[in-house]
Amino acid sequence: GGPMVGLDIGGTKTRGIKVVDGEVVADLEVGSANVQNVSRETAAANLAELFARLDAADAALVFAGAGGIDTAADAEALASLIRPHVPAARVEVVHDSRLLLAAGGAQTGVAVIAGTGSAAWGTNTAGEEARAGGWGYLLGDEGSGYWLGREAVRYSLHRMNLGLEPDALTLGLLAATGLAEPGELIAHFHSPETGRRYWAQQSRVVTQAADAGHAGARFLIDQAAHDLARMAAQVARQLGIDGPVILGSGLGMNVPRLQEGFRTALAEQGIDDVRVLDRDPIFGTIELAAASAGADRPAQS
Ligand code: BGC
Repeated sequence: GGPMVGLDIGGTKTRGIKVVDGEVVADLEVGSANVQNVSRETAAANLAELFARLDAADAALVFAGAGGIDTAADAEALASLIRPHVPAARVEVVHDSRLLLAAGGAQTGVAVIAGTGSAAWGTNTAGEEARAGGWGYLLGDEGSGYWLGREAVRYSLHRMNLGLEPDALTLGLLAATGLAEPGELIAHFHSPETGRRYWAQQSRVVTQAADAGHAGARFLIDQAAHDLARMAAQVARQLGIDGPVILGSGLGMNVPRLQEGFRTALAEQGIDDVRVLDRDPIFGTIELAAASAGADRPAQS
């Protein structure tokens, strides 16, 4: 077939690759095209930019994994934004957690996304599927970058209410947000100038404070690890499997303390095959596209 385009549409960015004869010939990033996070107009504009820069009008297949794809109608809405750019292509849209399992080289197991948002999804050899969380930041997203950023704000406000001086975590937050005092965090949090991505990015303040030994920051990361492990364990239990559990995305791949807490909490549940994804989930689109192309062809008899 012709070129394949793989997309990973997260809460903060959209990464796209163009693959010709098994080789990645273009690989780039634009803003989010996830309609749970940005307007349809912004999503459409970011996709237009991506397809132009990928030079992908000749694609035969587009395989997209996206956050916020929870119903067939969600998938179709996103597919309809993609189709105008690739007139000859078949367009497949799946939930972003599926990319993660495939990128980890697993056909069965549990994928846990800890990025801007969070979600756990898995499948077993019987083809059953189960899921935990992934409801978006207003409904949950425990253990995500957004959750961690927001908890740092809540921590700072709580200390302010207690009449305590700003500590290292709060000072880090004030420096990163350009504010003078904790009380200003409330209006800044609700301001249209900030949002889900902005606060997810502040999770870096928490991980830096934790690295420097801040007990409160460490507690928050441990809580995130615990919540993510609880989601993974729920999915594993429902599927009757004990691994592999694959942890990925920005927070999941880059915060050793979170990874350790995650492993420890799962080990307590008898789940020992825990892996941290070592490549970007986008590469899962290559495996999934190949499998979907195979499934497309009628069996030869
Ligand atoms: C979205 C999920 C997504 C997760 C990870 C959440 O905010 O609601 O659909 O899987 O983030 O990207």
